[in-house]
Amino acid sequence: MSRWDHGGKTTSQRGYGTQHQRIREQLKREVILCELCQRKTPPVVRVGCIADHIVSLAKGGTGDRSNYQWICRECADEKDAHDRGKPLKPKPRIGPSGWPE
Ligand SMILES: [Zn+2]
Repeated sequence: MSRWDHGGKTTSQRGYGTQHQRIREQLKREVILCELCQRKTPPVVRVGCIADHIVSLAKGGTGDRSNYQWICRECADEKDAHDRGKPLKPKPRIGPSGWPE
């Protein structure tokens, strides 16, 4: 199994159309480097490969160029995990005695 097989998902399977493809090509040509990595401290120089929705479509984001950022696989995975949300662990409430209530 190859790590570089496009993740087994094509963009069309994820419901993106030709506009997405067009914006992706544009970002690839014009932005080139991962925008999120460049914002890190210290900045990381890494070539991006994913046209990512800043606000996901599920959350009301648009398919406009302004809602896209060009990011690398690592940042996409990070964002993905974040977006999916970790299962909320109920925090035990600590009572005045210092013990969970
Ligand atoms: Zn990155």
